[in-house]
Amino acid sequence: MLQCFSDSSARTTNSATDNLPWQSRVVCESFDKRLNLQKHIVSKMTDNNNTELRAEIIAACVEMNATGLNQGTSGNISVRVDDQILITPTSLPYHETEPEDIVSMPLDGDYGSYSGRRKPSTEWRFHLDTYLQRSDIGAMVHTHSIYATTLSMLRMDIPACHYMVAVFGGSSVRCSDYAIFGSEALSANVLEALQGRTGCLLGTHGMLTCGSTLKEAMWRARELETLAHQYYLTVQSGREPVILDDEHIQEVVSKMKSGYGIWTQEPVE
Ligand SMILES: [Zn+2]
Repeated sequence: MLQCFSDSSARTTNSATDNLPWQSRVVCESFDKRLNLQKHIVSKMTDNNNTELRAEIIAACVEMNATGLNQGTSGNISVRVDDQILITPTSLPYHETEPEDIVSMPLDGDYGSYSGRRKPSTEWRFHLDTYLQRSDIGAMVHTHSIYATTLSMLRMDIPACHYMVAVFGGSSVRCSDYAIFGSEALSANVLEALQGRTGCLLGTHGMLTCGSTLKEAMWRARELETLAHQYYLTVQSGREPVILDDEHIQEVVSKMKSGYGIWTQEPVE
């Protein structure tokens, strides 16, 4: 029995448990699962460099480009970890990015300082400023997705043309004023557009979504692009969409709070 626990490669290649009664095989497999879980927990506890999280960020970036949510090296992702943020580096193709390329920036230390072998995304400022001002946010996704960016070029807010606007915390997704990338002015515009929201459009630029986790921020990015696409097509029809009133949207927000999709975050008032 001990051999089947300690030498899983031998077990899988030589099927050392094949001759055991089924009850023993079940015990073996169950022990094996527990062992793997313990190894996973230990590796997480000892993962001081957040290697797994860095790999998750890269995987999300690759997914963004593969699914058309983003193009090229534009867009960026960050995650809050304790008293720092991890953020994608500048100008590095996502498929060439390694966990060590993800940049760490302190939330408490020298503003704008960073550690790592790469420079942080040129958009680090609005990421950092948002985390400093919004304790509810644990991850951020910024993309230049086609329809959200198209609406941002038209400087259009997305009204409550569909109940899914509630995913972003209120009756609209605002579009900020324009300011050049990486600037303090852009950061201020973003914070204003994000008030009480977990997503916004950046004027003549792109979109930004937030979540308590990276998974949640990515979910909102997909939802925002879908909503932007639907709103764009509705406007293209030449007819005015029916806009839901605040009462209807608040009803949806309350219902979503009690369990919807992967929403784990209380909407910000
Ligand atoms: Zn951008």
